[in-house]
Amino acid sequence: MVIKLEYDSYNSFEIAKCACRDCAVGAVYGCVVPSEGCKKNPVVVIVGEAPGEEEVVQGRPFVGRAGEFLRHRLRRFNYTPDSTLITNTIPCRPENNNYPDDKKLVWECTQKWLWSELVMLQPKFVVVLGAKALWTVMMLEGITKCRGSWYTPSNPALDSQCLATFHPSYVMRVQKTGSGDATLAKFEADLHQVAVRAGFIKPS
Ligand code: URA
Repeated sequence: MVIKLEYDSYNSFEIAKCACRDCAVGAVYGCVVPSEGCKKNPVVVIVGEAPGEEEVVQGRPFVGRAGEFLRHRLRRFNYTPDSTLITNTIPCRPENNNYPDDKKLVWECTQKWLWSELVMLQPKFVVVLGAKALWTVMMLEGITKCRGSWYTPSNPALDSQCLATFHPSYVMRVQKTGSGDATLAKFEADLHQVAVRAGFIKPS
């Protein structure tokens, strides 16, 4: 599966993405949230699932509770806006935060936006957060099994090393359960591992 790029620059890509109302998600809610961070030669691209309510209000990805939780760890491991881009698998907020079940809709959306973005930017590393991003970028299922290991992307047009970890909303959700601490430790170890490989921090 090779994508034909239609954009001559990230700027024109972003303008087109923000104007997209091609499917029910965007047409009904009209709420594309642009990516944030390094838009030229990023070392790392972080791929979430889809924006939530706060993200739409602010027009920025990962600025709600899960975003704060994630960004706190990114700062700790020296992921900076001049090295790292934060994006989402789908750029619109789905109704009631329900990620669309419609596989064709998701496929068309991710071909147009996420894949074009990744192939255009060619980051050294892609970190996928949670099962939806794992499926889209690596075509793998089973986040618990796959997290923490390196994979190649499912699209040969993207030359990046990819690592999956839990979605921060999940890590927050399980905090009060018996597996909370272990899940948080794995999430942090995954982000730490990428930061070391990317040269953001020294191995400890
Ligand atoms: N905010 C985002 O931008 N993406 C997510 O996946 C969750 C929260």
